[in-house]
Amino acid sequence: MSSTRAVLVLGDQLDLSNPALQANPPGSAAVLMIESLQESKLVWVHKARIAVFLAAMRHFAQALREAGYTVHYSALADSGQRSLVEVLQDQCEQLGIASLDMAEPGEWRLEQDITTMARKQSLKLRMLDDGHYLCTRAEFATWASKYKQLRMEYFYREMRKRTGVLMEGEQPAGGQWNYDADNRSAYPKAGPGSISPPAAFEPDKLTLQVLDEVRQRFADHPGELDDFCWPVTREQALHALEVFVTTRLPNFGKYQDAMWTKTPFGWHSLLSVALNLHLLNPREVIERAEQACKEGQVDLPSAEGFIRQVLGWREFMRGVYWLDMPGMRQGNALQAQLDLPKWFWTGHTHMRCLGDSIGQTLQYGYAHHIQRLMVIGNFALLAGLSPQQVEDWFLAVYVDAVEWVELPNVAGMALFANGGRFTSKPYISSGAYIKRMSNYCDNCRYNPSLKTGDKACPFTTLYWGFLDRREAMLSANPRTGLMAKNIARLSDDERQKLRQQCELTLKKLDTL
Ligand code: FAD
Ligand code: SF4
Repeated sequence: MSSTRAVLVLGDQLDLSNPALQANPPGSAAVLMIESLQESKLVWVHKARIAVFLAAMRHFAQALREAGYTVHYSALADSGQRSLVEVLQDQCEQLGIASLDMAEPGEWRLEQDITTMARKQSLKLRMLDDGHYLCTRAEFATWASKYKQLRMEYFYREMRKRTGVLMEGEQPAGGQWNYDADNRSAYPKAGPGSISPPAAFEPDKLTLQVLDEVRQRFADHPGELDDFCWPVTREQALHALEVFVTTRLPNFGKYQDAMWTKTPFGWHSLLSVALNLHLLNPREVIERAEQACKEGQVDLPSAEGFIRQVLGWREFMRGVYWLDMPGMRQGNALQAQLDLPKWFWTGHTHMRCLGDSIGQTLQYGYAHHIQRLMVIGNFALLAGLSPQQVEDWFLAVYVDAVEWVELPNVAGMALFANGGRFTSKPYISSGAYIKRMSNYCDNCRYNPSLKTGDKACPFTTLYWGFLDRREAMLSANPRTGLMAKNIARLSDDERQKLRQQCELTLKKLDTL
């Protein structure tokens, strides 16, 4: 084997069909893998997020060795306080590596740092298109250049046509591109009833070692490890996909937006971790869902609702990330400045919706899309919390958090921090939406229909306060014209009371 040639496999590239591995079969190059303490410490990361990455990386190193590769693995204990790029440079020097292949990284900063290091060290670096995605960065840029405003729906239709997924010739299966209207039900008044559980994986010996190590090294980090049962191998990820498609997908679409106390997962797939680590390929996920639909096990609205997330939103977010970095990270179109309330790290708030959503986040490292968008993100937007602090928080607390998908979702979708680059309006709502979609408001200290007074729901107060402050912006946009009309109906006296209540609410943010 030539010792001068190596493949770098990052922690979110755990796939044997990684293009850099495909280009370098066993025996032709060494494989380098690096756990880096610095990356985990950059922000205050959830223990489960650290554990899922380490466990999956260590299992993948085993799989590579079984496939015949020589793997040089730098564990946390070896890496010390050094960054991934510093360890990589040392490894290349020690092993006499002259030529390095890798799939393009998922993170802008890391790509810059590796490229700079390689240039300085005269290392021949080849970054290959990451075949994991259905749309390359270049293809997305070409698509985006045709539009003034980027809209996921148009991109998604293009992807449906290009891949033939859920298509009947030139037409969408069933005659409609999307079934959003069928996919917005709340659970019945009596509750969600019995939900088939998602696949859960008892930690094996290797994972148990990782969990012990994380408990010791990161004892003061947020989050729990007691319920850790995420897939960390390819076999487990495939099993998780099968369990989801056969037992949960049939109800996914209808209850996609529904929330309920003590129901952390609903009918969602929980596949984002396996997808983002590349233990699963989005093509096989989409194909399996489409097959279940064709075989009549799943209705079209559920299959389409799920496929839209993977083929549409996931690919779209990645495309936008690469198009807009590094500027995306600095965006603060609404000049939001407030610090994160302390209860973001404990879940201890009287607001039941936030207490429940943040509580389960700390317990599992998971909350589903509507909890992230319409509860946590909505509150952050309405209260005017600093986008950069909110972005750091989202990157820290979810097991599936990787910057290319976290950042556009937080900055672009939840916080409107890039001024509506790809959303036609800010995603805001009062307590009324949360009441409609959940049981959170039952037994909450606050009342979702009140915007002023002792029992006023902070969401409702801050929602109306947002309309009050942003009236001009909202009335200039046809999609939000109605909101502007609603606030215009309030008398001066009502507006005055509302402003006082907003001030009071923001003053006692930490104790709400
Ligand atoms: P399901 O509801 O079962 O959806 C199926 C799959 O579709 C997901 O696994 C995911 O791969 C994909 N998907 C769904 N929605 C989106 C979306 N908006 N963008 C991209 N892919 C999507 N997703 C992450 O993977 N990592 C993140 O760090 C992340 N941060 C988010 C932050 C905010 C503020 C918001 C609003 C959304 C975020 N999302 C993130 C998107 C989405 O919430 C999660 O992908 C989803 O909740 C993961 O759970 P699931 O696998 O059960 O998803
Ligand atoms: Fe959340 Fe307001 Fe409902 Fe309480 S009343 S659960 S704060 S929306």
